[in-house]
Amino acid sequence: MPSPIYYQIPSTTLPPPSPPIHPLLRLELRDLSSPGAQRFLSTPNCGTLLSTCVSSVISHLYTRTCAVPPTRSVTLILRSMPGVAYTTGTDLDADHKEIHFSTDYIAGISEARIEAEICGVVCHEMVHCFQWDARGTAPGGLIEGVADWVRLRCRYVPPHWKREADGEWDAGYQHTGYFLEYLEGRFGEGSVRRVNEKLKGEDYEEERFWEGLFGEGVGRLWEEYGKSMTEESGKDCKERA
Ligand SMILES: [Zn+2]
Repeated sequence: MPSPIYYQIPSTTLPPPSPPIHPLLRLELRDLSSPGAQRFLSTPNCGTLLSTCVSSVISHLYTRTCAVPPTRSVTLILRSMPGVAYTTGTDLDADHKEIHFSTDYIAGISEARIEAEICGVVCHEMVHCFQWDARGTAPGGLIEGVADWVRLRCRYVPPHWKREADGEWDAGYQHTGYFLEYLEGRFGEGSVRRVNEKLKGEDYEEERFWEGLFGEGVGRLWEEYGKSMTEESGKDCKERA
């Protein structure tokens, strides 16, 4: 009997595993009787949601070659407030993060979307707890884009999200998130991780930043992203004809 042939991917092509990160995770419910708090507690796996999100963020943005920001604890605070959610450091120490999530917003999510939307929002905010920001000099749109790119990668995509290349590359959120996904496809797995890693320790200078990473300015990359979408939709039309 011939011996089987085994194919092995050379270990050098595999990225090193992401570092184990175990911050203290806490949950604060300001009003347990609120419908939003009750709905949150009824969500399947709500007890492991925070730790799952930490693992997802770390595995998408880090290997062992780059230090992770020194976040020591994350507290999810569910409370009545306008808007959806935001992340901040505590008054005492920026290494302790708070994610504020609106119970009014949670109460208004449709039954069909409740689990994916809660996971998606917490995932987005958890990125802010563990991403680099060029010592505060990175464009806000890039920071928000990285957060929604991780959400996209975790498949918590809301129905209203769509790829679009009009406007500016750094308009933020899913607009920039899909652009980052294009870069990931074009320049290879780990491209967004490299974007985040480059935001560690040095101030953001647009030209140097993007040319250093991808050999082209971000304006050019954005244009090429737009062209790739036009070509794709042309192909789709031909296929449908
Ligand atoms: Zn955000």
